[in-house]
This record gives sequence, C-alpha cells and structure tokens, in this order.
Amino acid sequence: MNLLNITAVSLLLLASAAFAANDTATTGAGIPRAEQVRKSQTISRSGSQPSAKGPAEYFTGSVRVDPLFAANDSTHVTGGYVTFEPGARSAWHTHPAGQHLIVTAGSGWTQEWGGPVAEIRAGDVVWCPPGVKHWHGASPATAMTHIALTGTRNGKNVEWMEKVTDEQYRK
Ligand code: MN
Repeated sequence: MNLLNITAVSLLLLASAAFAANDTATTGAGIPRAEQVRKSQTISRSGSQPSAKGPAEYFTGSVRVDPLFAANDSTHVTGGYVTFEPGARSAWHTHPAGQHLIVTAGSGWTQEWGGPVAEIRAGDVVWCPPGVKHWHGASPATAMTHIALTGTRNGKNVEWMEKVTDEQYRK
C-alpha cells in the first residue's frame, strides 16, 4: 500500500515560531531539539492512496482495499476500507491484537469458527478479540463495504488461514 504520497501540514503556526527559535539547540545526543519536539498533523488527501486488489491467496471473489492509514510508533492500528462484491469474502484468519469493523455500505456476513453465519449491515460495528478465528465478506447477493481498524502486534495485524469453502459460505 502506498503511503508515500502523504502531505504533512503544520497547523501550529505560533508553535512553529517557537520551534524555529530552538532549531539550533541540540540535545545531549546531538539531535536537533526541534526534530524531537515538533508535532504536526498529517492530512492524507482523498485520492492520494491507490486502491489495491485483495490478493487471491487471502480472498475469494472480487475484493478492493482502499488504505486509510498505517500503524505508527504511538498508535498500533491500521485502517482501511474493504469492499466485497457479492459472493466475495476473506479467508479464515485471526488478528493478534483484535479488529474493529465498521460496516459503511451494503450488507454482508461474518462468522466465527464453530458459530453461525451472522448478517452485518451498514451502521453495524463488530469487535473481534485477539486470536478468534473468523471471516467476513459480502452476502451471495449483496456487496458490503467496511472500515477495518486492525491492531498490530510485533508489526503483524493478521494471521491468514484456509479459504472459506462454498460449503461453509451459506446461511
Ligand atoms: Mn478480520
């Protein structure tokens, strides 16, 4: 996922002047103080992050991933839109640090290993605890889009498993 096209915009104009005054100061480690303390917001512009196809290794059917943000040093969560065309779904998987899903359009299905298929629709919010084996996707007849907010642990946010068979993909 291409996160290189992010435009950083500082909104703290007054603070910037203060930092400028400190630019020549250094810490004991020789790192410019301003580099350590400067804080500014990052605005990732709409349309700046290319869509990606959900890889056939991990998804069945047509799936589009639109990245929102990567994890960083202070917030260990990744964000992205995932759009499943009718019949499309993820493979079985777990998340080492859990996952929130916010369904933003359409209706689809999700299932925990050993449990029933559950319908999810726009406006629904799903929490999947760490280590719970599950899948999510569209229903056979309707597309579904969700925002996935997925925690990372040691740089990983998902453990992929086997595909969801046609036998399993039914209500
Ligand atoms: Mn998941």
